[in-house]
Amino acid sequence: MGAANAKALDRDFGIRRVDDLLHHYPRRYATRGQLTAIAETPIGEHVTLVAEVRSVQERKMRQRSGSITEVTIFDGRATATLTFFNQPWRVRDLRPGDRGTFSGKATLYRGGIQLAHPDFELFEEEDQQVGIAGETDVERWASELLPIYPASAAMPSWRIAQLIAEALTALGPLPDPVPEFVRAEAASMGYDAALRAMHAPATMSQVSTARRALRLTEAFVLQTALLQQRRAARAVASSPRTTGQGSLLARFDAALSFELTGDQRAVGDEIARELGDTAPMQRLVQGEVGSGKTVVAVRAMLQVADAAGQSALLAPTEVLATQHVRSIAAQLGPELMGEVQPTLLTGGMPQSERRRALLRIASGDARIVVGTHALLGDAVSFFDLGLVVVDEQHRFGVEQRERLRAKSDAPPHLLVLTATPIPRTVAMTVFGDLDVSTIAELPGGRAGITTHVVPAGERPGWLDRAWARTGEELGRGRQAFIVCPAIEVGDDGTEPLGDEDEGDAAGASALPVSVEAVAALARERPELAGRTVAELHGRMPSDEKDAIMRRFAEGGIDVLVATTVIEVGVNVPNASVMMVMGAERFGVSQLHQLRGRVGRGEHAGLCLLVTEAEAESTGRERVEAVASTLDGFELAQRDLELRREGDVLGSAQSGATSSLRLLRVARDGDLIDLARSAAGEVLEADPALESVEHEPLLAALARIRDEQRAFLEKS
Ligand code: ADP
Ligand code: MG
Repeated sequence: MGAANAKALDRDFGIRRVDDLLHHYPRRYATRGQLTAIAETPIGEHVTLVAEVRSVQERKMRQRSGSITEVTIFDGRATATLTFFNQPWRVRDLRPGDRGTFSGKATLYRGGIQLAHPDFELFEEEDQQVGIAGETDVERWASELLPIYPASAAMPSWRIAQLIAEALTALGPLPDPVPEFVRAEAASMGYDAALRAMHAPATMSQVSTARRALRLTEAFVLQTALLQQRRAARAVASSPRTTGQGSLLARFDAALSFELTGDQRAVGDEIARELGDTAPMQRLVQGEVGSGKTVVAVRAMLQVADAAGQSALLAPTEVLATQHVRSIAAQLGPELMGEVQPTLLTGGMPQSERRRALLRIASGDARIVVGTHALLGDAVSFFDLGLVVVDEQHRFGVEQRERLRAKSDAPPHLLVLTATPIPRTVAMTVFGDLDVSTIAELPGGRAGITTHVVPAGERPGWLDRAWARTGEELGRGRQAFIVCPAIEVGDDGTEPLGDEDEGDAAGASALPVSVEAVAALARERPELAGRTVAELHGRMPSDEKDAIMRRFAEGGIDVLVATTVIEVGVNVPNASVMMVMGAERFGVSQLHQLRGRVGRGEHAGLCLLVTEAEAESTGRERVEAVASTLDGFELAQRDLELRREGDVLGSAQSGATSSLRLLRVARDGDLIDLARSAAGEVLEADPALESVEHEPLLAALARIRDEQRAFLEKS
């Protein structure tokens, strides 16, 4: 295609191969509209002609002063004249060869059709040149669908169209990575036909058939890749870890102060079985905040400890890691604790403490190790790592997971916990290499949560009421969280925020939204007079954060004004009310998670989402969605619909997302389902995909791996 084209494609779109070029799909298709043939134009009526400019002439009028501009247009069969009086500026843009629509009242003038002072609209430059054919088929040209590609200055849409057309002409039929039986099952068009239809469709319905076929291709290739990874991970045997009577686990269960819920028991049994197997467990457990995932993880870790193995629990923040190790210790009781030696390792630990921890980990004495990403460091070596537990997977990439797993000869079992409910098809796409189980049941005795939206802009009175309700809860001996999207006044929030910032900047807003400002305000509010107010955010030293969190948990602090550092896992059953300031700045899932911090004990929870976002704005919609239901799965689905795809899959998928051009996990659940089971069948029959029939599939898989590798190198 020439060096200049190749360079522009690479620079502007990362397109290097013909294959990349063919997957550069049109953004939309322009329809040129209904063509009224000039030859058949009804005189005296208002018509719209689609045509090409042939000539433009300007001349002085004879009788009067002024000028007249005459433009001749041609629709492939007949010509018409456009006339403009004294408007040279209006027609400055009309040049021979331009194509567009011309509308006006048709009159007869010297035996020809004339439109006086028509409205006209020229096609964009890109449309001008696409599909140019001989003059005789302007009519065909006018009814054709124009693919409009994502374009750049150096590489306009029409040129992309030309290059793709050339490529498609030069290539023979393109081999289909999706086996025929899968196409048949999905009643799907084949790959070659679909690609050609995408770039040169005859009708829009052809486009939608083609899109579906290409979505199936993406889903199928990705699911095959994920299932292959899963098979590969299971192919290397890990040490089976079984437990028995009189074991640590049995003693733990006997001392447990509550009954396990049915779901905890069922998931626990599943995990116990898999830990006892040589195929490494690869399981994701999802359960609402407060559904009791920790105890499930502790029981798994004890089973591994019973087989003399160690477990590593990876937490996203120091606050959480510290809280985990403390609550694990409390649950174990003094006797079991001595035998298991739960050990904390974080980056912020004093050197001497850290050395002691490292030693206990290396000797194998610490059967349960809890830590942040510091656990991934080279200095950390395990005596016999049997199980890796990852809490809140969405904060960890696959790469980190792999680094922990690499610390063991035999691959350790893997248990991932997440409180973010994931719609099934997303789980299949993002965590396609993991098995998923769900804890849906909440432990009994929870009083539940009521959520209200407080539109501070529209109803300032409600904000006063929110403070009053908070004061009332404190008066009953309860505690309160106030969550803020920013740390300091004027801060745009360096802590994770919602996906886009639709609110005013912290400083400009009438509503204080920074920890600093809100804490100051809380100390002044008469409703909170005499209460202890403390601040917590990610910029504080970790020991200070830890001390404040501990004091709050012990009841020494009444009101905790914090950023989202409190989002995950924090457990203070006495906290019954949460105000979220600038709630529109958080994502749906984030708000849902935050809200899970209250109503965890016997006291009913109250969540007040304070927002200045205007009614009907997306930010407000998110806030209303959260207030409308407590069902995390429903919210996850809503969230999915309110977000862009890239945010959904995020970095969790290690680059496989770049192979998803058309597939939308929120919508294409049925295709993903079908692709998953078909991929399973194909791999079952031909694990190494050696048969000739699977050659195109192998090529497509190699491309995904290339993309993943490129992604890993970048990140
Ligand atoms: P999450 O799933 O959010 O991590 P946790 O494991 O922190 O939830 O559990 C929340 C609280 O519920 C903890 O205080 C825990 O001790 C308690 N809990 C867990 N399981 C049960 C149960 N079956 N019955 C009663 N309380 C439970
Ligand atoms: Mg938890």
